[in-house]
Order: sequence, then structure tokens, then C-alpha cells
Amino acid sequence: MELVILGAGPSGLAAAWRAALRGMRVTVLERSDHVGGLSAGFEVAGIRVDHGSHRLHPATPSHLLADLRELLGDDLQVRPRNGRLRVGDRFVGFPLRPGELARRLPLRMLAGIARDTVVPRRGDDSFAGLLRSGLGPTLYRALYEPYAVKLWGLPGEEIDGDQARKRVTADSPWKIARRVLRGSPNGQGKIFYYPRRGFGQIVEAMADAAVAAGADIRLGTACESLVPGPSGVAVRTAEGRLDAGHVFSTIPMPALAGLVTPGPAAEVVRAARRLEFRAMVLVYAVHEGGRWSPYDAHYLPGPETPVTRISEPANYRVSAADPAGRTVLCFEIPCQVGDPVWTASSYEDLVTDCLSAAGLPPLRLAAVEVRRLPHVYPVYRTGYAGQLAGLDAWAGQVPRVTTFGRLGLFAHDNTHHAMAMAYDAVDALTERGWDAAAWTAARARFAAHVVED
Ligand SMILES: Cc1cc2nc3c(=O)[nH]c(=O)nc-3n(C[C@H](O)[C@H](O)[C@H](O)COP(=O)(O)OP(=O)(O)OC[C@H]3O[C@@H](n4cnc5c(N)ncnc54)[C@H](O)[C@@H]3O)c2cc1C
Repeated sequence: MELVILGAGPSGLAAAWRAALRGMRVTVLERSDHVGGLSAGFEVAGIRVDHGSHRLHPATPSHLLADLRELLGDDLQVRPRNGRLRVGDRFVGFPLRPGELARRLPLRMLAGIARDTVVPRRGDDSFAGLLRSGLGPTLYRALYEPYAVKLWGLPGEEIDGDQARKRVTADSPWKIARRVLRGSPNGQGKIFYYPRRGFGQIVEAMADAAVAAGADIRLGTACESLVPGPSGVAVRTAEGRLDAGHVFSTIPMPALAGLVTPGPAAEVVRAARRLEFRAMVLVYAVHEGGRWSPYDAHYLPGPETPVTRISEPANYRVSAADPAGRTVLCFEIPCQVGDPVWTASSYEDLVTDCLSAAGLPPLRLAAVEVRRLPHVYPVYRTGYAGQLAGLDAWAGQVPRVTTFGRLGLFAHDNTHHAMAMAYDAVDALTERGWDAAAWTAARARFAAHVVED
């Protein structure tokens, strides 16, 4: 079996590794000059950083975790979570702690939350409707209302309820209280896994393992067209043609529609064009003078700044390679491609304003580096499901081509979900051909994924 995989993010790499171990001939085509996609790592001022805050969550299925442990050995560290969440005008520890919440939250807010737990409410099937009725208006207003606008660029009323179902694990005050008091059995919310050399070490190790098992990973090589035929798929790149027995695509599903001949019907293309991805600018600020804070991340849901999260990568790990006198902070700023945040020529004022608006210590700023990512969050605007269904149905009947991964299924998924999809896809590729029934069952499992933050 000649397998061609589009994209060398975690889903493409996990598939390449597993398929190569099973003896398939694997070629990975990656458009950019590095592996890892959104989960890649790189260096800023001599410090390894990620694309925003990345953790491997304890919710990772045990067989995947075992494979990653074998790949990374002691470098995969178990770390306590140590973040802070800004609620109103103050910070509380995140994950939440009961004693601290009672002490730190304003009395009016605590009274509001208590009142909301006893007053039953019904809402429509929007993000706002579901969370207002589940969490109550007080918590919704304080945390999710402004956060939705920042993250997805839409008021909660215009976001489909799927976003709440897939993204908000504790969706009632009782569930929050149970989590705060008892924690979850696998340590979710309390610990996380993180490699000594940054999150990117995971994808780099997977790429090395895939190559060692025989896979060919071609960087700087975009797929330009796919023509499925009776016995295989002709894959074109600028370098020439590959003949694949099967193609796995992990690139955005609307982009896949633009590569395949014949493509979808005109009305499917029109609907697919309405599917939106939120972009993100990542600003890496180099701070001289030791660590900036003892925390791994500061979560900023409020409207006082467009920044949603600040992470300090050196605090995610214990590594002798991290210098003592310098640190890097990563500011995550969701936006639209082409808007004023995306096109800004300087971000120093935005960083300074964010810190002062959030009541955080200033930086001794030595340098700033910027990364712009066009496809970060699939946007679940009301009506998205209908637009996606047509495209997904079309993709499902393209012979010998299978789409999966975060962008490939327009799903707001974590790295471990992307890898789990890849494992299932390889398992469905049997000696007798593509096991459509196994894939249908796998897709039903993916639909139940809930995103961890
Ligand atoms: C800010 C942020 C924080 C996150 N935090 C976490 C976290 O803490 N924990 C967690 O588990 N997950 C987290 N995630 C999610 C995680 O990054 C993704 O789930 C994961 O990277 C998805 O993997 P993927 O392979 O499906 O897609 P991607 O990582 O997007 O990879 C897709 C690849 O396809 C390539 N490509 C695109 N078009 C083409 C083309 N035409 N030809 C060839 N190649 C192409 C891209 O260059 C890319 O390398 C976070 C994401 C973001 C944005």
C-alpha cells in the first residue's frame, strides 16, 4: 500500500508513524518548512516555545500515552498545573480551589452564583443559551460572554450550541463544584504532561520515529491536486506526480475540496466558503531579568484586552537548558486574517496595555517576535452544521481519500484527539482495502470528543 498523507501536524505524523510500522510505504507532504503544525515548537531568544499554551492532557487515551512515553522517556514530565484566571478585577488560581474561590470572589458574585443554582432556566440551543441555563447568568457573564467574542469573534447568541457541548466540560455550577472538590480521576485539571524541550518535542519525536520506520516526510511540498481513479489517486506537487493507493488528508476540509477533481457541486462549494476559521497572532515577548512569574499561564477572558492567554513556556517544564536570567512570554490574540490586529506593524503597545489592563507586572522587554496563524479555531457560527454536512458528505464519497484531524474535520480538537483519529484511520486501512464500517464507527467516537483547556 502506497499511502500519501497531506500535512505533518500531529494527526499526519501519528498516521505516518503507525502506517510505516505496519509496513506501508508512506509519503508525507507538508507545505511548511517544519513538522508539527499547530503543535510545533521553535526557539525564541534561545528558549523553546510553542504556538501558544500547549499541554498534553491526562485525558490522552492510555495506549497513546504509553506510545509517547516510550518515544520520549523521562523527557515527558508530569507537571502540576499552576495557572491563574482573571475573574472581574482579580485573579483566582486555575484550576479552581474551593477555599480560594470563597475568599477571593466578590460577595455579590458568589451570591449571584448561589442564586443561579436554584433558579431553573431554559435557553435556546446557542452557546449563550446553553451556558446561561446551565452555568447561570452570573458565571456566563463573568467568564464566557466576553471570552466568546474574543476567541471566535461572535457574541454567544450567534454561536451554535455545539461549541458549548464540545468545549465546556463543567457546564453547571454543580459540575464545577464537584471538579473543584474531588478533581477528576485521571488528574485532568490538576496535572499535565509536557516534554523537557517544549511541546514540539512530541511531534519531532514522532517524525523521527516515522522516518526510522521508513516514512518519507517532504517539507516545503504542498499538494496541488488530487485525481482519484479506479485503482489509485494521482497526487500532484510542484515536484511531480505520486501514485497513491490511498490518501489521508489533514489539511482544512475546504482546502481539500479545492484540490480534488472532480470537486463538489457548486452549492456545496458555496456553503463551504461560508465556513470560517479564526486566525491568531502570537506575540513572543523576551523579558530580561529572570522569570516574569511563577505561573504557567494567565487566562484573560475579560474585555479589557484582546489577549486571551499569556503563557510562560519555561514554567511548563524543568529544563537546565532554560536560561536563568531571561524568559519569554507568549501572548495569544485571536483575530481575523487582514484585520487591524493581523496587519499591525508593531505589538509592543498591545502587550504593554494588556499587562497594565489586567493588573500584571510590566516587562523588561528585550525583543518581540511575531507569528501569524491563519487557521486556528473552526468557528461554529449558527448554521455551520448545515454548511459542513454537505462538504463532509462529499468528502466521504471521494474514493480512496480520507479526511481527519482538527482542520480536516473542522473540529475544535486537542492534540491527543488528532492522534487518536490518525490511529483509527490507519486501523481502517486493511489488507482487504478501506474498512468503511470501522471508519464510520470511529467518526461516531470523534463526535463525542470534548476539548480540554
Ligand atoms: C493556541 C492553541 C493552543 C492549543 N493548546 C492545546 C493544548 O494545550 N493541548 C492540546 O492537546 N491541543 C492544543 N491545541 C490544539 C492542537 O494544536 C491541535 O489539536 C493539533 O495541532 C491538531 O493537529 P492536526 O495534525 O490535526 O492539525 P495541524 O496541527 O493544524 O496540522 C496540519 C498541517 O497541515 C499542513 N498543511 C496545510 N495545508 C497543506 C497543504 N495544502 N499541503 C500540505 N500540507 C498542508 C499545515 O502546514 C500543518 O502542518 C491548541 C491549539 C491552539 C491554536
